[in-house]
Amino acid sequence: MLIDTDLTDVPVLVVGPSGALPPVVRRYSRAGAVVTTAASSDAVTPQACAGVRLGVLVGPAVTWSAAREVLAATCVVVSETLGAESPSGGRVVLVGAGPGGLELLTLAGVRALAEADVVLTDRLAEVGDVAALAPGAEVIDVGKRPGHHAVPQAEIERIMVERAQAGLVVVRLKGGDPYVFGRGGEEVLAAVEAGLPVTVVPGVTSAVGVPGAAGIPVTHRGVSHVFTVVSGHVPLEPHQAASLATLGGTVVFLMGMHNLVPITTALVRAGLAPDTPAAVVERGFTPDQRSIVGTVDTLADLASRERAASPAVIVVGDVVRQSDVWARRAGAERRAGVSPAMGAVG
Ligand code: SAH
Repeated sequence: MLIDTDLTDVPVLVVGPSGALPPVVRRYSRAGAVVTTAASSDAVTPQACAGVRLGVLVGPAVTWSAAREVLAATCVVVSETLGAESPSGGRVVLVGAGPGGLELLTLAGVRALAEADVVLTDRLAEVGDVAALAPGAEVIDVGKRPGHHAVPQAEIERIMVERAQAGLVVVRLKGGDPYVFGRGGEEVLAAVEAGLPVTVVPGVTSAVGVPGAAGIPVTHRGVSHVFTVVSGHVPLEPHQAASLATLGGTVVFLMGMHNLVPITTALVRAGLAPDTPAAVVERGFTPDQRSIVGTVDTLADLASRERAASPAVIVVGDVVRQSDVWARRAGAERRAGVSPAMGAVG
């Protein structure tokens, strides 16, 4: 529960079993309160309550009637019950950060971060200043950075579960949507297996948002009524390429830049027309966003000439014609009266 009231300099006494106190203390401290604690009913003495304006009884302490009586003699008393599913009050929230920038984080994501005691973040979850969004929270970067190894998945899950079992609200902030190639399912399973409450806040996925940022709608009336999102992490098997080539519509590849040659070659071999429009959209929603537009036949060469690199999405299909870069290319070709160019960058 987020505290919306400004409690700057208000003396607050938080009462309850020591394991249940840290997240509550953190929340009141974040609201500006001057927090002291009492971990047993006996510790709630008139001296401990002197000057206190608000007493908070946490979890089992809501039944500590002696403590309540002493507190009520000097200040306002409120009760905070703990979630029924988690005796410690700890829980896990997976938050999709969107494909880049604070503005693409949802309001539910902003709220989850504001309530967090711990944030596990990584390289693709670029929402800016996480510490400002989650004041007072411990921020742990588990992502890959140049020269540093990413924290292994099992270790991420271990940290997440351990902190939540200690009674903390753990936010796992993930790029895009947590369930799109983000190992979100595994992390939810880890929390469930540990008996922890877990919720998932969806995010804008790069599979749809990044083509959109380049003016490419993944579906378009009369052009494409199906879109398929494929991991390009490993090259396509011939039967997969054949399915994609016959299904038609739009195909979006994530994590595919190092396999751009095998991916496009496999699609053409499987029967996709070589002049099918195709694009690479790099670093979507950053000031360096760039589109490289060509055909499934020319895209790999163009991208290599332009030194296109990850993070980027690859889009294959007639919808690519809707992009500004394609329109400029077509306009230039018309004006010059030349045969179609290899492609365009913008
Ligand atoms: N869960 C994420 C995807 C994780 S896989 C989501 O829903 O978006 C990582 C891949 O996402 C990258 O290799 C790249 O293909 C794509 N990606 C993520 N952010 C991107 C961005 N800002 N610009 C271009 N591609 C991006």
